[in-house]
Amino acid sequence: MWQAEIRIDLEAIRTNVARLREGTNAEVMAVVKGDGYGHGMIPAARAALQGGAAWLGVCTLDEALELRRAGLTAPILAWLLAPGLPLHDAVAANVDLSAASIGLLAEIVAAARRTGRAARTHLKIDTGLARGGATASDWPALCEAALKAQADGTVEIVGAWSHFVHADVPDHETNDRQLALFVESLAVAERYGITPAYRHLANSAATLTRPDTHFDLVRPGIATYGLTPIPGRDFGLRPAMSVRARVLLTKRVPVGQGVSYGHTYRTERDTTLALVPLGYADGVPRAASNAAPVRLAAANRPIAGRVCMDQIVVDCGDDPVAAGDVAVLFGPGDDGEPTADDWAAAIGTINYEIVTRMSSSRVPRVYDGVVTDSVRSSEAHA
Ligand SMILES: *Cc1c(COP(=O)(O)O)cnc(C)c1O
Repeated sequence: MWQAEIRIDLEAIRTNVARLREGTNAEVMAVVKGDGYGHGMIPAARAALQGGAAWLGVCTLDEALELRRAGLTAPILAWLLAPGLPLHDAVAANVDLSAASIGLLAEIVAAARRTGRAARTHLKIDTGLARGGATASDWPALCEAALKAQADGTVEIVGAWSHFVHADVPDHETNDRQLALFVESLAVAERYGITPAYRHLANSAATLTRPDTHFDLVRPGIATYGLTPIPGRDFGLRPAMSVRARVLLTKRVPVGQGVSYGHTYRTERDTTLALVPLGYADGVPRAASNAAPVRLAAANRPIAGRVCMDQIVVDCGDDPVAAGDVAVLFGPGDDGEPTADDWAAAIGTINYEIVTRMSSSRVPRVYDGVVTDSVRSSEAHA
C-alpha cells in the first residue's frame, strides 16, 4: 500500500525525445538539470538517451558527476560553474564545460593542466539574456584566450553557444536579433580560426518552433518531459509525471465549517471533506491554496483552504468518497485529471516550476516503462 507517489512514465520521455529528434537535423541534448525537472535525473537521462538524445545537459558540476557515477557515458555539458570548483573532476570525467567568461576559461585551463588532458569547452556568447556568456564586446577576447589555450593543448573548443530570452514567443523580434548576433559572433570566432563542431542555441520552444535556430545541437528541457514550453500550444507531447495520493480520511461537516489554517475556506453547505497527505514539504506550492484543482470522486475540485506542510483538504460535496480513494493532483489528463499546465495557470506560474518542485525525498517516485538498476519496478510498488 502506498500513501503518496509521483509516477514517471519513462516511455513518454522516450517518445517525446524521439519526436523532437524527428523534427530536426541537429543532435539532441536532453536537459536533465534540476533532478530531471523533478522527474529523477538518472532515469530521465537514461530514457532520453534511449529515445535518441545524444547529449545530456545540466547546470552544475555535481549533476554532471552524478550522471557519470551512474555509468552514463554520453557527452555531458555543465554550464553553471562558480569560481573555485574542482573543475579537474569534470575534466577527468570527460564532462564538457561552458566557458561563460574569461575568468571561467582560466579556471578550466588550470583544471586541464592539473588533470593532464584537454578540457572539452563550449564558449558562451551572451546574445541578450544578460546571464552567462561573453557580451559582444568581450567575445573577441574570449575567443583569443580560448584559441591560445587550444594551441597549448589545455582546451578543446567543442562548442559555441547561447540562450534565448523570448523563445516562448516564437516571432518575437528579440529572437531574430539574438540569432543575428549569434551568427555574427560565430563569424568573429571563425576569423580567429575557431570553427566549433557544435553551435547551439535552441531550447524546447525554439526546437519546436524555430528550425532556423537549430544549428548542430538543440537543448530541449521541458519538452523532454512532455510539457509545452508555450502555454496554450499543443505540440502533441506526452506529460511524463503524475502526482497522486490516497485519501487518509473523510468526514461530514456542516455548512459554514472553516477548513485548514486560517479558515480561508468555508463550506457552503453540509459536505464531505477528504484529507489528502501531500503538502508543501512534498512540492505542492502553498500558492495552490484555494486555487489548484485536484481530481477526486470523479470531479476536479480546487484545494479547500491552505496547503499545509504535509496535507491538503478537498471538498467533495455529497459525492461518494472514502479513505483509500486516489486523489490525483495532476497528470497527463487522460482520465480528466488536471495537468501541470492547469496547475500553472491556476497559481500564476509556469509548468516548469510545478513539476520541478516535485523533488522531495519524502514522496517515492515510481517509474513506469523500464526497469533499470537505479529504479524500482512499478510491480513491486503496485
Ligand atoms: C534550462 C535550459 C535549457 C532547457 O530549457 P527548456 O525551456 O526547458 O527547453 C536549455 N538551455 C539552457 C542554457 C538552460 O539553462
